[in-house]
Amino acid sequence: MPDPIIYLDNAATSWPKPDCVGEAMVDFLTHRAGNPGRGGHRLAREASLVLEQARDRLTKLVHAPCPQRMILTHGCTDALNLAIHGVLRADIRTRCDGTKPHVVTTAIEHNAVLRTLHCYTTSGLIDMTIVPCDEQGFVHADALIEACNECTVLLTLSHASNVLGTIQPIKETIRTIREQYPDMLIMVDAAQTAGHFEIDVQDWDIDLLPIAGHKGLRGPTGTGALYVSPRAYPDDCDKSRVFCERRGGTGSMAPGLEMPTKLPDALEAGTSNAVGFAGLIAAIDALTHEVHEHEMEMTDRVLKGLHEIEGVTIYGLPSIKGRTPVVLFNIEGAHPREVMAKLDAEHGIAVRGGVHCAPLLHEAIGTGSDGGVRVSPGSGTTAEQIDCFLDAIRAMAVQHA
Ligand code: PMP
Repeated sequence: MPDPIIYLDNAATSWPKPDCVGEAMVDFLTHRAGNPGRGGHRLAREASLVLEQARDRLTKLVHAPCPQRMILTHGCTDALNLAIHGVLRADIRTRCDGTKPHVVTTAIEHNAVLRTLHCYTTSGLIDMTIVPCDEQGFVHADALIEACNECTVLLTLSHASNVLGTIQPIKETIRTIREQYPDMLIMVDAAQTAGHFEIDVQDWDIDLLPIAGHKGLRGPTGTGALYVSPRAYPDDCDKSRVFCERRGGTGSMAPGLEMPTKLPDALEAGTSNAVGFAGLIAAIDALTHEVHEHEMEMTDRVLKGLHEIEGVTIYGLPSIKGRTPVVLFNIEGAHPREVMAKLDAEHGIAVRGGVHCAPLLHEAIGTGSDGGVRVSPGSGTTAEQIDCFLDAIRAMAVQHA
């Protein structure tokens, strides 16, 4: 195995993390690792402070109205599950007119959304409409509106596709939808965009924003968050439209058997990943515009290089405009998993090959059950590494010609 590794799989999880991330985690474990919210002693208080600081950083990052609305989770899948189960269970518990809740989702969604919804459709608990996307991975506002009806309780749309990198014009799309459905809950999966692009939950009128801490934000795995809007969880908690079945200790209201109803405790049972959030704070503090510019420059180099290789098909948008630092391609005659395995074994290059947890998108772009090769540069990627990668692809394309 060649050494060092050329890591081009940052859309799965970013690596290497900035040095300050590991340092903050070691510092936390060495000096401050009490159980946050439990016990009034110094180490517990220090651990609580870490969670509050992480909540604060994430609140500012996406322009949430207050930190209490930022629920700390174990990743984006965890946040998506909390939101989807939360909204559907709240609705099913209170619906008494014999109708079923309806959910609108799209062909670009990740399995964290699709599989979670699937268990409700197969058990007949909800109706669901899946809105298609075009070849570039855009989902059109008109099609979303057409899919909604008066029973639609949740519309869920990814901010950017994890397969193509295509970024949806979320602000405009939501504005159009809100003209007809002002009260419907709208969730935007920000797994692929948080840290890379500006997000404003208030200006864009988003109700639920699941975030991954370990991708664009460059924090540790096992960290994430869910922003919950006042429409989804009003200050008058009795009118909450998110019901969490997960129960447990919160460090607050301990003598009672009822869960606290106030945010964030209502949706945050159990011991949080405080060491992970200590790392995430450092990661967010280290984010700069230059980091993003560098990632996009490296993505541009990948795209331009691949365009010049005969036998390579690139999917989605033609340039870096409107995309995250992600490129999907295939080499004619080579299975994407074979390309991935060869890059790994012969060149020490880490990419992802196959179907990228978004099966409906692969169907839509014609890559079916084989999928494609996804290359996603990160802040640590260099131009030389991209050139190494392009040389390897060029050689494979010649072999398969
Ligand atoms: N949604 C999208 C669009 C994703 O790309 C991913 C991660 N691949 C997830 C959700 C799940 O995120 P996590 O790995 O943090 O659970």
